[in-house]
Amino acid sequence: MTYIPAEKLAEDAIQTLEELNARTEPLKPKDRMAIPAQEMPSQDPAVRRSNMEEVALGYTPEQAKLEAERCLQCKTAPCIAGCPVAIDIPGFIQAIADGNNQKAADILKKDTLLPAVCGRVCPQETQCQAPCTVGKVLKSVDKAVNIGRLERYIADWEREQGLIETPAVKPETGKKVGIIGTGPAGLTVAADIRREGHSVVLFEAFHKPGGVMVYGIPEFRLPKAIVQKEIDALTEMGCELKPNFVIGRTRKIQALLDEDGFDALFIGTGAGLPRFMNIEGENLVGVYSANEYLTRSNLMRAYDKARADTPIFDSEKVAVLGGGNVAMDAARTAVRLGAKEVHLIYRRTEVEMPARVEEVGHAKEEGVIFHLLENPKRILADERGWVRGIECLRYELGEPDDSGRRRPVAIEGSEFEIDLDTVIVAIGNDSNPLIRQTTPGLETNRWGNIVADENGKSSIDRIYAGGDIVLGAATVILAMGEGRKAAAAMNEMLADS
Ligand code: FAD
Ligand code: SF4
Ligand code: SF4
Repeated sequence: MTYIPAEKLAEDAIQTLEELNARTEPLKPKDRMAIPAQEMPSQDPAVRRSNMEEVALGYTPEQAKLEAERCLQCKTAPCIAGCPVAIDIPGFIQAIADGNNQKAADILKKDTLLPAVCGRVCPQETQCQAPCTVGKVLKSVDKAVNIGRLERYIADWEREQGLIETPAVKPETGKKVGIIGTGPAGLTVAADIRREGHSVVLFEAFHKPGGVMVYGIPEFRLPKAIVQKEIDALTEMGCELKPNFVIGRTRKIQALLDEDGFDALFIGTGAGLPRFMNIEGENLVGVYSANEYLTRSNLMRAYDKARADTPIFDSEKVAVLGGGNVAMDAARTAVRLGAKEVHLIYRRTEVEMPARVEEVGHAKEEGVIFHLLENPKRILADERGWVRGIECLRYELGEPDDSGRRRPVAIEGSEFEIDLDTVIVAIGNDSNPLIRQTTPGLETNRWGNIVADENGKSSIDRIYAGGDIVLGAATVILAMGEGRKAAAAMNEMLADS
């Protein structure tokens, strides 16, 4: 398809549902692309800065219909190739356009267990929406069909109507599967294995299940009630949940297989070990890893200062180090916890930032101060050993490095200081070493991730693995996709054994 300038599209463009319904002729591709991409209503930044409620409010039915009509129903559907679990995107969008939300929900559920989550947190602009024909023709990924928002709309519609049914479970097989970790990978495996009639026990180190979806991603981006609904469905299916149960410490992998009667195990323990910068001052009081900061806020509800058992320190001036989604979440949480200044320090430019464009935009709207091409040299202490500031260097971009991004190079003599009382380090996570240290024979790679084949099978018989513990820190949808693949192989193995 060739590029169509916006002014040509704008003539006679459908703007409202009434105008759409008034059309008697079938819509041509040009008419569809002229419908403006529907913006997601969201909370006013000035209001949401001081509450934990969800920022994005979701499409209205009218908006969902208009957005669905923007889809060209391309025969080759390049969007599907952009989705890690290959959802039938034109199929579910056509169902919305036809007013058949239930059909749309059924299509989604064939390939994803967590549409309400993925519709909210998938990096759609680099996945399904990146190759969308509409975006390509209009020369902007921002104008692609908003697939994620439509997915969220349908998942929310189904939940709010009370139409979500507990999946059917086949007759009991007598086989028992243990799932270690209750993030998106573990939850997906649990559902797919239980459906086949095998009994399922989920082990979770924290007191609440849900993995990063609960302890990492803040409420204002992903309401916990949505994840809880998925967990409730698993318990209704008969899965048993064992919280506060650390595999490798409370019980070892080999004991689960040899003594506790498990026929197979899935390890979905994620990448929860925070990286630090290894600079002077990182052990001062007032330095947090983003994991600790977010876990305290989300899981321990430290933002609820009057009632929290472990309230979080009242920071005035905070610096967050990093440029990914985790850094944005930490910075935006610090804003909501009442910090007067929140500085985000990133050594490259905004173009290289790994965070989603939408999250960067939201952080800026909420008043986070961006320091680009700057990086900390050391964290400064007061006389009590508490953080009093940070010394940074300015940077410029040099030649591309192994990742293809231009390498940031420090400018000598460019040191400057920022006054602070809190520093949050958000520069990435590695896998937790506990399971590999306590499971002889389990092959891991040089980053400590479990080595698994294309079906998720590890180096030990009957043990499978998937999600961040195999991929390194990745995404919810990739973890879910890995879980699905491993569950299929485990079900096959159990059927043959
Ligand atoms: P996890 O979600 O990490 O779950 C692993 C679970 O295993 C945890 O509950 C942990 O407590 C438990 N566990 C660990 N060790 C043990 C043990 N020994 N015994 C028992 N239980 C154990 N992805 C996106 O797609 N979009 C986003 O916007 C996004 N934002 C993010 C924001 C933050 C702050 C973070 C940290 C990550 C974000 N991600 C995002 C990444 C995404 O959340 C992860 O890729 C995904 O959750 C990985 O799923 P998982 O099932 O492999 O592991
Ligand atoms: Fe897009 Fe994620 Fe949905 Fe796939 S699961 S269609 S990548 S939003
Ligand atoms: Fe619709 Fe875009 Fe997919 Fe084409 S590429 S089917 S326009 S969502």
